[in-house]
Amino acid sequence: MEDSRKQVINFAAGPSKIPRPVLLQAQKELLDYKGLGISVLEMSHRSADFIKIVNTAENDLRELLKIPENYKVIFLQGGGTGQFSAVPLNLIGLKEGRHADYLVTGAWSANAAKEAEKYGKVNIVHSKLDAYRSIPDPSTWGLNPNASYVYYCANETVHGVEFPFIPDTKGTVLVCDMSSSFLSKPVDVTKFGLIFAGAQKNIGCAGVTVVIIREDLLGYALKECPVIFDYKVQGSCNSLYNTPASYSIYIMGLVLQWIKNSGGAEAMEQNSAAKSKLIYDIIDGSNGFYVCMPASTCRSRMNVPLRIGNANGDSVLETEFLDKAAKNDMISLKGHRSVGGIRISLYNAVTVEETQRLADFMINFMKEHCV
Ligand code: PMP
Repeated sequence: MEDSRKQVINFAAGPSKIPRPVLLQAQKELLDYKGLGISVLEMSHRSADFIKIVNTAENDLRELLKIPENYKVIFLQGGGTGQFSAVPLNLIGLKEGRHADYLVTGAWSANAAKEAEKYGKVNIVHSKLDAYRSIPDPSTWGLNPNASYVYYCANETVHGVEFPFIPDTKGTVLVCDMSSSFLSKPVDVTKFGLIFAGAQKNIGCAGVTVVIIREDLLGYALKECPVIFDYKVQGSCNSLYNTPASYSIYIMGLVLQWIKNSGGAEAMEQNSAAKSKLIYDIIDGSNGFYVCMPASTCRSRMNVPLRIGNANGDSVLETEFLDKAAKNDMISLKGHRSVGGIRISLYNAVTVEETQRLADFMINFMKEHCV
């Protein structure tokens, strides 16, 4: 069957756009995977064919991010939120006293810190932020040398704050939620004890969460850690302790191949820079018509939250913007329900050309209202 669906540009924050070649391949293979007479959906997770799918996905990921040998790659269920629990359950016992340091720069790291409080003592290393618009200066951070790990979220999907640097933890294990910026640029994995990322933004569909963990950190899980979240258990059996999110792993594998064929993490970084520049240039040149909250030093390349008309957002203008965008086949631009306004998500599958279409639309919309 041809790809005859309606052509829209999907700027969703996650689940989000999947590259078209991936969908077409999945469509082609849905009924009959490589002549086996069954779909991946119907395939035993213990079969040689499925194990090949898992291993290929892992190898491609290792290649794309140059993941060193002494790191395990694990594919888990439970989403990013599952990892808010799994991280402390596995790592807070690394040092006596169960202390963990958290940087809280948006909704998702706030949720993670709250969850970790169930398992130990959480220290927010900076003064409480009234609004999530900036990253507190590292010279002001009060890191606890007895903390088992330091946690941060590389890109806050709701508030649009992205770290332009990797935090210096003064030797403490660094843990990162990379859910919404994973594989949008190369990353030096050796700087991290653990990286996790839900697949449904940059590398596939919902259902699978990637965990990359340095091997010496395995084996410290609290006794109450559920076995499906025990990194040592899952890491020692190729993520196949129990039935994994098999179809989501398959889709992720196809997306990883697409990233490889498209020039890898380096190309994703170039595209992300170009796409986000198109949008931020319009905001900056709009004389206050478009208002972006995060400080220019930590604006996200992935998620651009903005208000229209004024800093609180003119609800009439914002509704009109969303309606008109939808009429022009540009969808999923509504801001997160907790902050309102508009949010433009520019993940890997969104092209520069698609972003240019939105940029043109934004300019025209502004002209219509600022005569
Ligand atoms: N971390 C980040 C940065 C996210 O954007 C999200 C979800 N959008 C989560 C964690 C939670 O992921 P999930 O919904 O898969 O639990």
